[in-house]
Amino acid sequence: MHQPVEVDPRRFCRDSQAWETQSEVSAFPRLAREFTQGALFCRVAGQADQRGGLSLRLAIRGEVELTCQRCLGAMPHVVQIERTLHLARNEAELERLDALPDSDAILVGETLNLVDLVEDEVLLGLPLAPMHAEGECPV
Ligand SMILES: [Zn+2]
Repeated sequence: MHQPVEVDPRRFCRDSQAWETQSEVSAFPRLAREFTQGALFCRVAGQADQRGGLSLRLAIRGEVELTCQRCLGAMPHVVQIERTLHLARNEAELERLDALPDSDAILVGETLNLVDLVEDEVLLGLPLAPMHAEGECPV
């Protein structure tokens, strides 16, 4: 099981640090509940632009298995996430950054758990009620 990977998000970006892992989904506390099996490659890289704007680039990919809500059978699901998240210090900054075109922002404090961040992104991209296409449940 992954231990939390706590970083200082601003320093992580300013120093262009990166963290990556190739893990079974069972190693992620929250993902282990959603997926029966699969593995994910995850990379989080910090970057700073010339104006001092800080952001995290996320790349997550892999193939996992969900449970079909109709037949309870296994259902393959491809995870392919490429996202840039700008770091916001407060609500006002969050709103301003989110309003920019093609921009996503997150509110971060003094520390950020990268395992949590990766899990949030993967969970956000999941269908609410995963099901095989109509008539395709293997019963
Ligand atoms: Zn099904």
